[in-house]
Amino acid sequence: MPASLMRNLVTGGAGFVGSHLVDRLMDAGEEVICLDNYFTGRKANVERWIGHPRFELIRHDVTDPIRLEVDRIWHLACPASPVHYQHNPIKTAKTSFLGTYNMLGLARRVGARLLLASTSEVYGDPQVHPQPESYRGNVNTHGIRACYDEGKRVAETLCFDYQRMHGTEIRIARIFNTYGPRMLPDDGRVVSNFIVQALRGQPLTLYGDGSQSRSFCFVDDLVDGLMRLMNGDHVGPINLGNPSEFTIRQLAERVRDRINPALDLICEPLPQDDPLQRQPVIDLARQALGWEPNVSLGEGLEPTIADFRQRLLDP
Ligand code: NAD
Ligand code: UDP
Repeated sequence: MPASLMRNLVTGGAGFVGSHLVDRLMDAGEEVICLDNYFTGRKANVERWIGHPRFELIRHDVTDPIRLEVDRIWHLACPASPVHYQHNPIKTAKTSFLGTYNMLGLARRVGARLLLASTSEVYGDPQVHPQPESYRGNVNTHGIRACYDEGKRVAETLCFDYQRMHGTEIRIARIFNTYGPRMLPDDGRVVSNFIVQALRGQPLTLYGDGSQSRSFCFVDDLVDGLMRLMNGDHVGPINLGNPSEFTIRQLAERVRDRINPALDLICEPLPQDDPLQRQPVIDLARQALGWEPNVSLGEGLEPTIADFRQRLLDP
């Protein structure tokens, strides 16, 4: 079937990454069903498509089964910010397990291909640095991040068991920290926190001493990687992220210097099990998908800051 006739289901499609993916699929002329329970997503993120003949919006929780006729399932539904996934950790684990189980059941019934938005969090607080896909990780099974980390790990397991038992077509993306326009001002993740604090003239909050590291990928690059993974033959798991690594203090300095160099950086307690370092090895993505990120942190911060500035001024 030519890509232009694909019927796509995007779970979590009203969220940050999901809504950018919806845009890309709509722009490519495909049909899109966007499914979301609006926990951390907003109708405003997909507002421009409401009423379009190739677009449908469904309020639904993936922990309940649903019957739809689709060719491709982009399974992104799950809160991604620690603040939100720890708000109701039992629900988060249910969303990962039951949600993925329900979407795999749907994929099996209609013969659809399912792409799971997994995460670098499957590596936990990694003892191997940078992290290749072969690293099996260091997750605290009973810590406050486990609802998310273990949820995604079992979601990967379910995908592979559906593939082995039922021949379901799966694709697994291990996404590393991604940022960009449309993150919620109260999202709680570090890039949005720093930008919102700086725009409000508040000190930027470093958890711990800010020496922990992350590697930040701009959302357009990520969506490009997701599209290549879904459309190609490689199953994964495959790392999608930007290998440029920064300490959290360096990130804070970059954001502050772009918005208001006079602001202070203040230290707050480091949350339990906060990974010390994180950087993707993306050799597999380069080789199997011909993909690598093109947008540097400096380039990606510009449109992200502009988007927050606009929304904070005109909420
Ligand atoms: P987000 O919180 O902005 O989006 C998640 C979306 O899923 C929201 O629209 C939310 O309302 C929806 N959702 C949550 N629970 C649901 C449920 N039970 N039923 C239906 N909808 C539900 O997060 P995001 O950054 O856009 O992340 C999207 C996906 O990518 C998530 O699966 C996340 O785990 C994964 N991921 C993201 C990152 C990142 O840095 N952005 C990193 C690793 C993995
Ligand atoms: N962080 C921080 N200040 C904030 C928010 C987060 O220093 O206001 C730190 C957090 O402790 C972590 C890093 O930034 O070390 C990335 O946090 P985020 O929640 O964005 O993603 P994750 O920890 O899931 O990678």
